[in-house]
Amino acid sequence: MTDRIRLEQMNFYGYHGALPEENRLGQRFTADVTLAVDLYQASVTDSLGQTINYAAVYKMVREIIEGPPCALIETVAGRIADRILSAFARVSSCRVRITKPDPPIPGSTGQVSVEVERQRVIAYLGLGSNIEDRKSYLNRALGMLDALRLTRVVRCSSIYETAPVGPVRQSDFLNMVVGIETVLPAEVLLEELQNIEKTLKRKREIHWGPRTIDLDLLVYGNRQLNTERLSLPHPEISRRAFVLVPFMEIAPHLVIPGIGRSVLELRQMLNEKEGVSVWKKNNGEGKYGLFGS
Ligand code: ADP
Ligand code: MG
Repeated sequence: MTDRIRLEQMNFYGYHGALPEENRLGQRFTADVTLAVDLYQASVTDSLGQTINYAAVYKMVREIIEGPPCALIETVAGRIADRILSAFARVSSCRVRITKPDPPIPGSTGQVSVEVERQRVIAYLGLGSNIEDRKSYLNRALGMLDALRLTRVVRCSSIYETAPVGPVRQSDFLNMVVGIETVLPAEVLLEELQNIEKTLKRKREIHWGPRTIDLDLLVYGNRQLNTERLSLPHPEISRRAFVLVPFMEIAPHLVIPGIGRSVLELRQMLNEKEGVSVWKKNNGEGKYGLFGS
């Protein structure tokens, strides 16, 4: 059972719309917002600090609807959801419905609305580098992950040094696994990972060859998917010691969706136990235990 806070039927006047007359004359808009929030502590402590101040939510909604015009109410709804999720860490998901009670549809007396839902998801990523300066590539990639919209790195394994697998002769890798919290959909996240790889000058010349940085999306919430561009969970997880060993450090009991076994169990089932050794231990919280602050 998830607790929820709802702000309903909030009425505003704004200038959004794809038609010039909508931007010129404006019209009424109604917003409904549903927030999933754990309200247990609030309900036992009776303290405002343990819940979401709905006056603050109302103010954000009003600023966006009464603010600069967007062509689409989809955009308006998305911006409201993003703003709420970045402002309130307690909100685990957010649904926003924007209605035009008097839409510019000739002959229509009905209303039009769109509803978007944004969810905070925990995802795990595998990082690898085998071109110098390997540590610096890992550090830069982590900085770029943290800078992604509505995303932050919340867990960080130690850095491991691992012998390369596969047919290509190449230098040893540094590998690690990190946990992130993100609102980006899986497909968008993958695109962002590939952008980071590009920025860090990864060239896809030799398949399985040396790389400045490799970013693999290992697990994205409970999502299971198998398309040409994206497989979730990553199909190689259970075969790769250089993934399982660091993964075990930050999420030993996470059950991999579709496989039904924990990271720890998968590690114990893997025959190959060689070739992965700690290169730099993470003694602190997050990435600052590795790269300093
Ligand atoms: P590898 O990681 O196996 O060494 P690449 O990094 O070159 O190889 O990835 C090859 C392709 O794998 C990418 O083009 C990407 O679209 C696809 N892919 C499918 N699922 C995933 C995933 N979960 N994480 C990362 N890439 C994935
Ligand atoms: Mg990859």
